[in-house]
Amino acid sequence: MGWGVKNLNETLSKAKQILLKYRLCSKCLGRLLSSNRPSSELLNTGEDIKAALLEEARSLLDQNPEEAETLVKALSESGYGPALDVALGRGLEVEKKTCPICLDRLTDEVVETVVAEAVRKVSGYEFEDFLVGAYVPKYIAAIEERIFSEFGLTESETLRKEVAREVGKKLEVALGKPANFTSPEMLILVDIFTGTAEAKPAPLYIYGHYFKSRADIPQTPWYCSACWGAGCDRCGGRGRVYPDSVAEYVGEPAMRLAGAIGYKFHAAGREDVDVTVEGTGRPFIVELIMPRRRKVSLEALKEAVKSYSEGRVEVEGLKPATHNDLKMLKEAIEGSTKRYMATVQFSKPVSREDLARLEASLRGAVIEQQTPTRVLKRRGEKLRRKRILNIESRLIDSYTVEFYVEADGGLYVKELIHGDSGRTRPSIAEILDNPPTSIRLKFLGVLKTLHHSK
Ligand SMILES: [Zn+2]
Ligand SMILES: [Zn+2]
Repeated sequence: MGWGVKNLNETLSKAKQILLKYRLCSKCLGRLLSSNRPSSELLNTGEDIKAALLEEARSLLDQNPEEAETLVKALSESGYGPALDVALGRGLEVEKKTCPICLDRLTDEVVETVVAEAVRKVSGYEFEDFLVGAYVPKYIAAIEERIFSEFGLTESETLRKEVAREVGKKLEVALGKPANFTSPEMLILVDIFTGTAEAKPAPLYIYGHYFKSRADIPQTPWYCSACWGAGCDRCGGRGRVYPDSVAEYVGEPAMRLAGAIGYKFHAAGREDVDVTVEGTGRPFIVELIMPRRRKVSLEALKEAVKSYSEGRVEVEGLKPATHNDLKMLKEAIEGSTKRYMATVQFSKPVSREDLARLEASLRGAVIEQQTPTRVLKRRGEKLRRKRILNIESRLIDSYTVEFYVEADGGLYVKELIHGDSGRTRPSIAEILDNPPTSIRLKFLGVLKTLHHSK
């Protein structure tokens, strides 16, 4: 399909219709018609189209002066200089109109301004690639949309896209970095109407496993339920039930190393505050908000967590992660197998025979659990069925037993041991007919390995 005269005439006739009603600047006119005309040396830009229309008007001046002058006037009012000369030459009264789509802001000068502003805003941030987003007020987008449908311009590029593309091309040169349309490290938002730009670095994600050696550190900050952190008599002005948390021990040093303004701590499940985390640890991802640095030394982070927490919390297996890994972290915990070690004191002596019988009846058993009494206030009543994959026991002394348990994620292990007044069945206390007097629990990690990208 060549670039036929028919097509050229169609383009010009459409351009004429549009200009007679809307005094579009050359850039907006060119963009609106870009989908209607194949690339060609003819009529490549809105300026070319206006030149061709002025030629048409000139040739009409003798036979149909009224139609010709209307067109010259429209062209002049749309800011086309050569048409203005013709108009003035014929004594026509013309008044420059503002482009109804870009408000005359789609100029090289404005684009240069926002590019310079963008370069200034992103300085001080480490990033490899970027994406430009352009802000266009809703009412402008609505006007543009109306013109599209009025003239059947179904495939035209929007102002928002043109600005993003133009600014993006210039920024690739100015920053010496490529655009990335799928997962940019930096999002640059520009607004030609205000001449401003904003830098929004993508969050930095770091994956790892945490270990908690003490049974008095909650995973996330535990605030006083009376004052929610403000400090009151009940919490002795501290605002908290526990002074620290795993999230803070990992998040704060990570935030400082990345020069971020904040962090979010995402973990694959959570243990009770009095449960230690050992074995392979618990997987987590720390999400760093607006990081200035992305090339964070993971070795330095590992050391920083250890020293900041004075050894209470440690991290291993640190690697860079993505936003996608966050979803997988949450999904991985569903349907995963978890490992626990429990040291239990019983009220009556326990024999090796008791333990052999217990192991035989619990290995592979399905445990039915009503929501534990201790969490009933926070969570609704629900019956859970969880499987014990493996259980091994070791008699420490006649009252003390160490249990190793592998079970479906979501099993409440303390309730498996004490039975929660019959709300968990079967339970160790029920099978042994021997209620425990104390339970010390260690979380040893997740068996299923996390699929992990990057
Ligand atoms: Zn315009
Ligand atoms: Zn309080």
